[in-house]
Parts: sequence; structure tokens; C-alpha cells
Amino acid sequence: MTFETKSLQVFQEALTQLNASFNYLPKLDQSVDLTAIRPVMLEVAKRMENNYPYHHPMYAGQMLKPPTEIARLAYMLSLWLNPNNHDLDGGKASSAMEKEAVAELAGIFGWTTHLGHLCSGGTMANLEGLWIARNLHPTKKIVASAQAHYAHARISGVLRIPFLSIECDSRARMDINVLQRLLQEEEIGTVVVSMGTTATGSVDPLPQILELQAQYGFRIHADAAYGGYFSLTDNLDPETRAAFDCLNKVDSLVIDPHKHGLQPYGCGCILFKDPSVGRFYKHDSPYTYFSSDELHLGEISLECSRAGASAVALWATQKLLPLIRGGTFASSLSKSREAALALFDKLKSDRRFIVAFRPQLDIVFWAVKSGSASESSRLAREIFKRSNEQNLHLALASMPRKLFAATEGEIINWDQDYVVCLRSALMKPEHLDWVDHIWHSLDAVTTDALSAARATPLQHIHDATLDA
Ligand SMILES: *Cc1c(COP(=O)(O)O)cnc(C)c1O
Repeated sequence: MTFETKSLQVFQEALTQLNASFNYLPKLDQSVDLTAIRPVMLEVAKRMENNYPYHHPMYAGQMLKPPTEIARLAYMLSLWLNPNNHDLDGGKASSAMEKEAVAELAGIFGWTTHLGHLCSGGTMANLEGLWIARNLHPTKKIVASAQAHYAHARISGVLRIPFLSIECDSRARMDINVLQRLLQEEEIGTVVVSMGTTATGSVDPLPQILELQAQYGFRIHADAAYGGYFSLTDNLDPETRAAFDCLNKVDSLVIDPHKHGLQPYGCGCILFKDPSVGRFYKHDSPYTYFSSDELHLGEISLECSRAGASAVALWATQKLLPLIRGGTFASSLSKSREAALALFDKLKSDRRFIVAFRPQLDIVFWAVKSGSASESSRLAREIFKRSNEQNLHLALASMPRKLFAATEGEIINWDQDYVVCLRSALMKPEHLDWVDHIWHSLDAVTTDALSAARATPLQHIHDATLDA
């Protein structure tokens, strides 16, 4: 048994209490046909059997962090009402909970005033951030680093804003010199700063970007969908800490509670420092009801119907695990980073692997040492496949040659300008306790893969199918 189920006892009690609060209404007979439901539910359990990825820490591949117990329970409890946070009439209590929870998220960055709301995820949140940016600078360009989430280029296309991609340095961060040159040559309205890239967790040099902002004047939109919560941790390297410490100076910011905030999928958040940007959301719909003078979340959101359940789950999680430095939530996030550093150290001292640079957050990637980039890529795929078979799940990611600048010579022949690497996002609080286990398994699988490779001659492989 690997699932937590004890918390369902508290759930029953909370459901009974909520149920009783509606006792003033005329009795309603809600019968349920359990004999019909049962076989379907058991079939659902059967269908979900081989779902992958999953909650266990030996799944250490792509980004996945299961919701915490209280998030699951609070989300489920609210489903008996199914609030819609589109407006106050859709979910009075859950809208109030959203405002409080969002204010707490803004508090991570020291913002006492803000405008913001939850949305379906980081993509939607970034869309809103860039939509406001376009409203403020209708003719100017948007730039983001080549390692920024691919959503930014697509969103700019949707919004019809010209988009430029900026080269990265050897640690997958925006190259500040290239940004400066572009600022001299182009009309740039907004710089998207990645606070933890999806591939490597690299953090763009925000302090230097702010210096350029003072000189050139542009909006800064921070994509902290993945990394935002790391502001609360106590074990970032000084340079990374310095970048997070000036997040309060950006104009808009995205943070994804469904990435590192222990929430079920369907929970992103957009925050604006200047609440007056709310004017761009203004609409005059005849079918939205206005029951009070209070701010409607539907008036400051591009999405209309939204799951009030997400707000209820987030509110409950933050009540139990407040977003404060030194708190339980923060220390569990620090453990993810510690896990990444522990794995990094093991990889670094193993002659079979090449690590390009020390992780800035909790994502580690590594190449397999080999005579050529293509052979290294082939071995990475082989280790990926074999470790899956041993129930150790890693991810694959194609990384540009540039990231290995500091390790030049380790891959003797760069016969292609990228190398397929193994990658691990160690997001789960349990990962730290499982690093030795993960390493043990990786070690054994690598030994087998390398000896098998020596026995079979290199075949021609196309690197077209990556799952990252
Ligand atoms: C995940 C992610 C996104 C996209 O967010 P979704 O919640 O998947 O829509 C955007 N930016 C970064 C840096 C991310 O890690």
C-alpha cells in the first residue's frame, strides 16, 4: 500500500458538518444507486492502474508533485457545492477564500498591494501577464530567453505581439549581453524573466535585468510558474537568492500552485504589482450579475467559469502550511533542493556521467560520457529505457552543446550540436530520503546499459522523439 487514506476519516466529519449547515432547507431526498455505481468505480480503479507518472518518489522524471492530503480533502469537500469563482454569485465563500489565498501568494514576494487571481495554470497566467503588457505597449516587442517556456512564443503569436528569443549563457540563463544589445537595437516593451526554467531550473539574472530596466525602461514579467515558491527556501546559492530577493520589483508575476504549491492540476496564479491594470479587464456583460460593490474576480480574469474548488484547496493548504520562511512548507521545499544537490554530487563524482552545472533549484540533468554526442544520446536513451523497466522513472531532455562549455573535452566529438541528457525533477518532499535508492538503481542500470553497448555496435539513431 502506498496511498495515504487515513485522512478520509476527517473528510467524513467535515462533510457531515457542511451537510448539517443546510438543514434549514426543506428536506431533499438524495438517493444513490450504489449497485450501479460500484462496478463503474471499480472499473475506473482498474483503468487507472497503470497510470504514469505516479506519486511514488521512484518516479523522478518529469515535473509531478501530488497534492497534499488537505488539498485533496478540501477540493473534494467543495464539490458537493461546486462553486464557480467566475463571480461572487457563483461562489461567495470560495471567492473570498481565493482573495485571501492570492494575497498570501503575493505576500511571498513582499507585495502588500497587488491585483491577481487564480487561473487554470501557468499558460493562462502568462497569457494574462503578456496581454496586459501588450495593452500598455501595443507596438513594442516581447523578449524571453531561448530556455524560457515555449508558451511565451505561442502566447505572443496569439496576442499578435512580435516576439524575440534571446540566447542563453552556458548555464541556461538569459545572456545579459545579448539582451543589452537588443535593447539598443529594438523597441522592446516587455522582458520575460524565467525564475526557474522548466528544463533545468535555471534562474535568469534578475538584478542585472533590473539595472537595464532603469536605463532602457521596459516591463518585467517574471515567469516564476515553477520556481516562485523557492523564494521561501533557506538553501539557495547566493546568486540565486539575490535574484529571488528582487522579485518584488517586477511588474507582473506567474506562480503555479499546481507545480510546487501541493495543489491538484488546474491552479495557476497571475499577480500584478499595480492594481490599476484591472482597467483593461473592464467589460459590460448583460448576463453577469452584480450583487455587490465588491470586486468580482470575474471582472479581473480572462477566464469566466473557474473551479472554486481550486481556491478552497489552496486556502486550506496555506492555512495548514503557511507560506512563511522557516515554516513546514518552506523546509519541505528546501529538502527538494537538497535532494537535487545530493544527486548532483553523486553524478559529479562518477566518471560515467557529465554534469554541466550545479542546479539552481531542484532539477538535475546529466549526460553520459561517451566518444560522441550522438553515442552519448543513444546511451542516455538506453539508460532511460532500462531504468523505466526497473521502476525508476527518469526523463530525457535534449540540451544544447553550449551548456557543456565548461566541460568541453569530456564529450570528445560533438558530431551534433545537442546531446540527449537524463533529467530528474526532484519535486517530492520524499525525494531526499530516496536519493540513495534512486542512485543505487541508476548505478546498476548504467552498468548494464554500458556493458550491453560495448557488446553491440553503434546503430544509427534519430533523435526525433523526446518526451520532455
Ligand atoms: C509549467 C510552466 C509553465 C506552463 O504552465 P502550465 O501550468 O503547465 O500551463 C510556464 N512556465 C514555466 C517556467 C513552467 O515551468
